Amino acid sequence: MEFFWHEACLAHDTGDGLWELPGRWEWLDEPEPHPENAARLRTFRHALTHGPVATHLTWSAGRFATDEELARVHTAAYLAHIYKACTAGERVSLETNTVVGPGSWDAIRAAAGTALAACEAVRAGRTRLAYALVRPPGHHAQRALADGYCMVNNAALVAETARRAGHRVAVLDWDVHHGNGTQDVFRDSEDVLTVSIHMRHGPWGAHHTQTGGPEESDRANLNVELSLGAGDTAYRRALDELAVPAIRAHGTDFLVCASGFDGSAFDPNGRHNLTAAGYRDIGRRVAALDLPTVLTQEGGYLRGYSALCLHALVEGLVGTAPLLDDPLAYVPDDTRLVDSDLARAATGRAGRGRA
Ligand SMILES: [Zn+2]
Repeated sequence: MEFFWHEACLAHDTGDGLWELPGRWEWLDEPEPHPENAARLRTFRHALTHGPVATHLTWSAGRFATDEELARVHTAAYLAHIYKACTAGERVSLETNTVVGPGSWDAIRAAAGTALAACEAVRAGRTRLAYALVRPPGHHAQRALADGYCMVNNAALVAETARRAGHRVAVLDWDVHHGNGTQDVFRDSEDVLTVSIHMRHGPWGAHHTQTGGPEESDRANLNVELSLGAGDTAYRRALDELAVPAIRAHGTDFLVCASGFDGSAFDPNGRHNLTAAGYRDIGRRVAALDLPTVLTQEGGYLRGYSALCLHALVEGLVGTAPLLDDPLAYVPDDTRLVDSDLARAATGRAGRGRA
């Protein structure tokens, strides 16, 4: 398995404030680092280079994406708007909690280009599994809207690039938040199947109007909304009963995974209960699909536990026995709501095509 890395991804400085909200809060003694920060990506890399799975991995250099490449999934006016914000000379907010600053344009181009480098390695047959360990994340970025820490949709860019090369592409997103940006990029296309498994959070403002519910599902989009508290069992069943069958029925020959760890039991930005074992099982299921696969890094904000979950996911992807213990997997896995969640998600697609 090949990992792709670009040092410029660390240059995106999101500052601090009240968790994800920038600025000064008089009552708050110590401002907190923005959750989407460079330390989390460095921690993820360290886990993979120093953990026991390291011997199964190779590392390759990423690259910057060109303007032409970014324009495959975003409008020219939107990209100009992002560039202008990044070069304003100071940190600015694109929406409530999505900020850019002087290093951000390089990081955005590095994240997108590094995802494309992973795509190129898989398409060239150099590896079947390539993981772009990048930030900023991308799956909330829509064609012409930044949202949820995301400016350029790295997973959608890989999917669109593979589609143009003649592949039958599916995107599988297990970040705890709905992959609304990817859904938006491919909303007029039946060629690319988009699947998102996420917590029931609904729309969250003018930059995020999608519901993530089954009413948005159709032949080429599957939203699997899981109740708050869903854990390892819910994700296993969502994959086995809905996502994997949909990916197979689509005739997929190229898979893109939007890989987030904010579904973990300890993530401040999620209300799901996955443990490292759950992520290991996700990795096993992706490996069992046996498709050329590119993974892009999305969320995961309690950085130590997210790094452990990433390590476990990779164990599943490369097919090792469990290599690290999970000292925090003590939250009960409440499966009571899974049957009704999956039934509701399944009904969303029934008979619904696209105009
Ligand atoms: Zn997320």
